Amino acid sequence: MRLSQMLFVTLREEPAEAEIPSHKLLLRAGYIRRVASGVYAYLPLLWRVLTKISAIVREEMNTTGAQECLLPQLQPADLWRESGRWDTYTKAEGIMFSLTDRRQQEMGLGPTHEEIITAIARDMIRSYRQLPLHLYQIQTKFRDEIRPRFGLMRGREFIMKDGYSFHIDEESLKQTYQEMYTAYSNILRRCGLKFRAVDADSGAIGGSGSTEFMVLAEAGEDEVLYTEDGLYAANVEKAVSFPADAEPSSFKTFEKLDTPSTPTIESLAKFLNCSPTQIVKNVLYQAVFDNGKTVLVIVSLRGDQDVNDVKLTNELTKLAPTYGGNTVLSLTVPDEEAQAKWAAKPLPLGYMAPDLGDDYIQSGLEGLAPKFLRLVDQTAVDLENFVTGSNESGFHVVGANWGKEFPRPSLTVDVRKATAGDRAMHDPNQVLQTARGIEIGHIFQLGTKYSNALGATYTNENGDHVPLVMGCYGIGVSRLAQAAVEQSYDKHGIVWPLAIAPYQAIVVIPNIGDERQVEAAAQIYTDLNAAGVETLLDDRDERAGVKFKDSELIGIPFRIVTGRALADGFVEVVDRATGEAEEIALEAVVDIIKERIATALGSSSKP
Ligand code: ATP
Ligand code: MG
Repeated sequence: MRLSQMLFVTLREEPAEAEIPSHKLLLRAGYIRRVASGVYAYLPLLWRVLTKISAIVREEMNTTGAQECLLPQLQPADLWRESGRWDTYTKAEGIMFSLTDRRQQEMGLGPTHEEIITAIARDMIRSYRQLPLHLYQIQTKFRDEIRPRFGLMRGREFIMKDGYSFHIDEESLKQTYQEMYTAYSNILRRCGLKFRAVDADSGAIGGSGSTEFMVLAEAGEDEVLYTEDGLYAANVEKAVSFPADAEPSSFKTFEKLDTPSTPTIESLAKFLNCSPTQIVKNVLYQAVFDNGKTVLVIVSLRGDQDVNDVKLTNELTKLAPTYGGNTVLSLTVPDEEAQAKWAAKPLPLGYMAPDLGDDYIQSGLEGLAPKFLRLVDQTAVDLENFVTGSNESGFHVVGANWGKEFPRPSLTVDVRKATAGDRAMHDPNQVLQTARGIEIGHIFQLGTKYSNALGATYTNENGDHVPLVMGCYGIGVSRLAQAAVEQSYDKHGIVWPLAIAPYQAIVVIPNIGDERQVEAAAQIYTDLNAAGVETLLDDRDERAGVKFKDSELIGIPFRIVTGRALADGFVEVVDRATGEAEEIALEAVVDIIKERIATALGSSSKP
């Protein structure tokens, strides 16, 4: 492709709309244009990148025997009602764009495709002989994200590869899951990314496993905890660890103390001159279930620990049936406005005890549980002679014990947040380390959640109708493209990994007024393309400096310059990643570039 004929517009200025380097660079280098919040045009250069990523994804997926298909984006509400997700997705979470068509039928734009694929499986899979089966697609997804940001990282319209597998049993599912683990690792390695596969939260579906593939980068929205020995890595949402040991309490007898202005753990520990590990803190949450029922929750845990909202949500989901619900719609720390809706009297905030009276909740309110749900984290259960609130502002109690001053907890849970510095469970000599990651892929053992909901069964060898066992596997193709930039750039611009660069080489003519330069460049350009090297020709009527800057900004791996050395039969070849320049004989340059690309791609495609 000749640059003079391309839609090629680069920006010198930093775009104000972008916060992180990869977003700025993709905008500046003319890869994307913002059309609306979270909605981007993929311009020709980016489209080539996306096409290359997709090709790698296809190759790795097809190798496993998965089959490509294309499912509708316009999805009938009825299918989502069958799975029970219509209201949650369109109203509660509101992630799904929905519409009513001219026949007054409700439809949604697909944020994901479990419903569609399960309905197809229900109709078409009859017998165990048809199993296992794995279908995937690469397609635009729509999600009305609360906070679209960072360009392609969190779009409202983005490209995903999603796959769904069907099995006779868990064992068969686990096998495909392992194959996907390998396929995803291959995809990310071939795309030239540094990544980590981590244990991930499986949410309310629980039980079976799930793994996220995190591309490591400071701008990542996720925190990963891992150990140096390489044996443990998990999303912080899911991570488990041993907390630091609690210091023995110095309070031997129970008493109530005047502790003015100590609503925080820090202020209290300082005032009492004790360790936060001797304190039981009590945190108030407000949970709303999918049937609209609101429940007030008191979580008690050790003062030096924090609540992991994801773990807490999972515990609440398990308890949902007690309240007549299935899932948790929202979990918040109630602010003053929220408290005013249900509190019968002002709460002793900062001084609450685990036994805060249910009379703080107004009685007889529609849709509100009349009693607190009290959950005690294991870290608090283990404490003796602890410090905690007194339910009276300005006062705390010390030397308290479960089973004496406070009833022994009936519901013990693990809702503490693991943090860097904690000891690892598999080996307490290993200490958890932290890293930031961008979630690029997620593989998931779904089990029978959707097949049960939609009645997708097959006939087993004994002639019984049993639900299909399912897995699902997603990878963010457009997010991956930007993550690659986030992981690989310098002060001059993008440094694409060779395997996904939009073009592999760019031939730059410093002076288009010089006929010899133009001719030599055109020849190299033609020969490179003929040799299968994807090559650009910068034949624009621009200063050489501008052309060099642009080639660096857009990040093409090899630059060939038909400059001064041409008189001696040489061209300059610059490696974008290292910045190294060398002179190569005109007649050798095509073979040498071709050879280097083959070597680089060959080594990256090997495991
Ligand atoms: P996140 O936690 O980042 O919102 P998710 O858990 O909702 O992701 P999945 O539903 O598992 O994501 O989707 C599979 C993959 O699709 C993700 O791993 C990610 O790479 C990509 N993806 C999800 N949401 C977006 C988005 N809004 N923009 C771009 N890519 C996305
Ligand atoms: Mg999401």
